[in-house]
Amino acid sequence: MTTLITNIGSLLTNDPELGTLTDAAIVLDGDTVAWVGSAASAPDADQRVDAEGRAVIPGFVDSHSHLVFAGDRTAEFNARMSGQSYTAGGIRTTVAATRAAGDEQLDANVRRYFAEMLRQGTTTVEVKSGYGLTVEDEARALRIAGAHTQETTYLGAHVVAPEFAEDPAGYVALVTGEMLDACAPYARYVDVFCERGAFDGDQARAILTAGAARGLTPRVHANQLTQGPGVQLAVELGAASADHCTHLSDEDVKALADARETTVATLLPGAEFSTRAVYPDARRLIDAGATVALSTDCNPGSSFTSSMPFCIAVAVRDMGMTPDEAVVAATLGGARALRRTDVGHLAPGARADLALLDAPSHVHLAYRPGVPLVSAVWQGGARAC
Ligand SMILES: [Zn+2]
Repeated sequence: MTTLITNIGSLLTNDPELGTLTDAAIVLDGDTVAWVGSAASAPDADQRVDAEGRAVIPGFVDSHSHLVFAGDRTAEFNARMSGQSYTAGGIRTTVAATRAAGDEQLDANVRRYFAEMLRQGTTTVEVKSGYGLTVEDEARALRIAGAHTQETTYLGAHVVAPEFAEDPAGYVALVTGEMLDACAPYARYVDVFCERGAFDGDQARAILTAGAARGLTPRVHANQLTQGPGVQLAVELGAASADHCTHLSDEDVKALADARETTVATLLPGAEFSTRAVYPDARRLIDAGATVALSTDCNPGSSFTSSMPFCIAVAVRDMGMTPDEAVVAATLGGARALRRTDVGHLAPGARADLALLDAPSHVHLAYRPGVPLVSAVWQGGARAC
């Protein structure tokens, strides 16, 4: 089955040769992009969709989320917006609720947020564990996530489990030992929250190194709340991404720029928005030459948004990104952060993941903040919504 989408006013391909095409068309064959070019020279297909001059973009690649959870933290958000500050400790509230939830409830939650993301144009989602913090609960989280995405990340090192409050070294031993054994078969990546109140540089190194030895690719929650060793560690260990990057020294920026082919700086503006914190400086990273991705960090505590268009709008308004840079970071940047070459761009051979916008240009994603502009989504070549 082939599908021709034609009369596309603006087609963002993220392909270095093709660029952004006007009066364009695209042909999907099965789950793959078969042809991209001018509408006037488009080949025939089994079915035809008239885009009526609207814009088409690659599906968003959301490379950082925490969707296996139960409960919510409305009260904590309300308190924070009434003047209290954010600390890593609130994670334990969600841990208790998640442990108490049944598999079906957790699975239904993941399904719900995946559907919510799809409606907003997101076709690839990474999901982390990290609200179980026992051997069984972490493995369960990854098993449930793995039913919905191949992009699963073992985050047993989200915070020290409450049972180990007096014995953090014992918890690191569990995370790098029995818990890793149980989780590695279900995970593609290993992650650690390297931050004051969570795990220090030495602990983070031990956890990432142990995961890498089991074939998991490292990624790091780095420099979110304070300047710390997270970014340098991510670069040194060849991590796929250093996520947050809010508090960076000049050395951190240089390290990310030098590692542009390996380690993506993934910025998560939903977290700063929802904690009323200072945004990361995307301009500084881009000007230095770093590869930048945007992601939602969707989680019930510090960033309960599933909307990539929202992140794009904030990144343009408050982080110094141009609209082009922000949309590229939310698509191709996310793909780079997941080391995927088949998504995040639209050229022959790419996966047929794309969104049709109810707008003439992708710039409207920033120009019209909060407006649901995604009007149709194809995932793996099939109309998904
Ligand atoms: Zn996170």
